[in-house]
Amino acid sequence: MDLISIQNVTKKYKTGVTAIHDLNLSIKKGEFVFVIGPTGCGKSTLIKMLYREEKPTSGKIHVGGIDVAKLKNNKVYKLRRQIGVVFQNFRLLEKSTVYENVAFALEIFGAPKDEIHQKVIKVLELVGLKNRIKSFPNQLSGGEQQRVAIARAIVNGPKLLICDEPTGNLDEDTSEEIMEVLKEINKLGTTIIMVTHDRKIVERMKKRVILLDAGRIVKDYEPGTYKNASY
Ligand code: ADP
Ligand code: MG
Repeated sequence: MDLISIQNVTKKYKTGVTAIHDLNLSIKKGEFVFVIGPTGCGKSTLIKMLYREEKPTSGKIHVGGIDVAKLKNNKVYKLRRQIGVVFQNFRLLEKSTVYENVAFALEIFGAPKDEIHQKVIKVLELVGLKNRIKSFPNQLSGGEQQRVAIARAIVNGPKLLICDEPTGNLDEDTSEEIMEVLKEINKLGTTIIMVTHDRKIVERMKKRVILLDAGRIVKDYEPGTYKNASY
């Protein structure tokens, strides 16, 4: 079953730039997919359309059975409940503890306190931060902050985890740790789409790789077939 279906999608910004050209892509439940390509080729635009940060100019997008482009603004929360998003710059609440940062993602959906507690502890255990629940973001390393961001993104049990350059601010060893966490999350059943510039990571992971150039898919590599050549 396809979790994501993108059909003939074009995205033209108001400035006149066409970031995505007549693009078709299907992603199945449980896949781990990298999206790579040179700066400005449309990677972020493509994933922003999946969580309705941007709307396509034309074409169809379905995520988990939801017609994303047609979704009314007051129904976007239904889509967002199914998707976790992680960014390069972590985007944590600086004045809140690790625990609070993660719990917040559940509080906005009005979950009961003891249910929130159980889920937060479980997910912090999964990312290896159970002993840091009372720390504040500025007391953590970059890798730890990104693990908090990942915990926050998955605590609600989304079908899809979208990561836009999650290792962009991290050194090589820390990036590897983050990839191990993402692998584990994927093993537990969450579909993952990750945008990255790090072609070493992409080669090592041996997953499906979508190569974009100028808003088009120029290559769709089967798992294990991507070699760290030039783009
Ligand atoms: P990537 O993530 O691959 O670097 P983007 O999706 O951010 O690429 O950008 C693709 C193209 O769309 C670029 O030419 C960029 O300048 C343009 N673009 C991105 N966001 C906007 C926006 N909000 N308004 C206008 N143009 C944009
Ligand atoms: Mg980008």
